[in-house]
Amino acid sequence: MNSPVWHPFTQHGLGEPIPLVTRTEGAALHTRDGRRVIDAISSWWVTTHGHSHPRIMAAIADEAGRMDQIIFAGWTHEPAETLARGLVAMVPSTLAHVFFSDSGSTSVEVALKMALGFWLNRGEPRGRILVLEHSYHGDTIGAMSVGARGVFNRAYAPLLFDVGTVPFPAAGGEQATLDALEAACREAPAAFIVEPLVLGAGGMLIYPAWVLAEMRAICARHGVLFIADEVMTAWGRTGTLLACEQAGVVPDILCLSKGLTGGAIPLAVTMATSEIFDAHLSPDRARMFFHSSSYTANPIACAAANANLAIWRDEPVLERVADLARRQAERLDRLARQPNIHHPRAIGTIIAVEVGGGGGSYLSDMGPRLLASFRRRDVLLRPLGNTVYVMPPYCIDDSDLDQVYAAIAEAD
Ligand SMILES: *Cc1c(COP(=O)(O)O)cnc(C)c1O
Repeated sequence: MNSPVWHPFTQHGLGEPIPLVTRTEGAALHTRDGRRVIDAISSWWVTTHGHSHPRIMAAIADEAGRMDQIIFAGWTHEPAETLARGLVAMVPSTLAHVFFSDSGSTSVEVALKMALGFWLNRGEPRGRILVLEHSYHGDTIGAMSVGARGVFNRAYAPLLFDVGTVPFPAAGGEQATLDALEAACREAPAAFIVEPLVLGAGGMLIYPAWVLAEMRAICARHGVLFIADEVMTAWGRTGTLLACEQAGVVPDILCLSKGLTGGAIPLAVTMATSEIFDAHLSPDRARMFFHSSSYTANPIACAAANANLAIWRDEPVLERVADLARRQAERLDRLARQPNIHHPRAIGTIIAVEVGGGGGSYLSDMGPRLLASFRRRDVLLRPLGNTVYVMPPYCIDDSDLDQVYAAIAEAD
């Protein structure tokens, strides 16, 4: 196919087929050539309840009949007001302020800017950010700067700012992580940003809740702002609405996107404490928060998110999540008995394994081979190197799950 489209994270030189999707429903993508493909990675981690959820799609259509886009600097609208109130009611009460943007990466940029604005406005300028090894926080320059360095950002290294990296809390190495964080916090950094409980793009690396709790406590002790990037982990992915809940952790700044609209339409928020909001509050215009993007708090996107929040309020989402976790655990157990499957792990609705020899990098030969093998079986999985993970929409049924696990078991 001769298309002018330049796709993300796609090597067009390999000539791999790019299926054309014409319809989405539940856990499936339907292609123009008549295939039904199981979306075992929730279309890159965004789809929570299922594709084309009727309540969310209806909310989008309904709002589109009233409003398109309006400026959000100095203006407001009901969908955003309702959403902000709904979010504040859903998360720990200290996160009392909601700043809108339009992607996970932007919500991270906003979080970093809020942290630096906080310190400057308090008259103690601080600029250093601490991060966890193997992290991923997005693909814009600032978000890349606070993420792991590798082949995917090598060309842009000259633009990335320096950060303090704390080792990943691998099993047995947790104390080293905590000690490194404690030492780094003594040098008065502005903030520490983390993916709570599981590092997604870093390879579905899971670490215990008590480590998250300890990291939060260390930051609190040293007055270092704690930023939770829950762009992937929120909305039930890890078994609870927020992953932070499992550690009893309340961050100073919280980033949400992906499942915020159930995965239907782009939207993000950065939530902050009153301490951070108040640091920007002043009759002095030079102290305001200097950030906006054109589509901040798009009303149609906010309406989709309001429908998502209504689903969370009205329907037993966490029961579905628990049920999916149980159904995946049974299948993971069986899969893990295969000799070529290593390091099985699970959290909430996410499972991951290493396939084959292990230790492969993101660009290992395994990736494309596995991808082709899954494609032949009408299963959408996208390995991270040798790491194969399953992160399906919560509505996936048993027969689809069986097909996904068979595709992994038979991968060649
Ligand atoms: C996906 C992701 C992002 C970036 O979100 P985009 O909407 O793709 O910009 C940031 N942080 C984490 C943890 C993510 O998984």
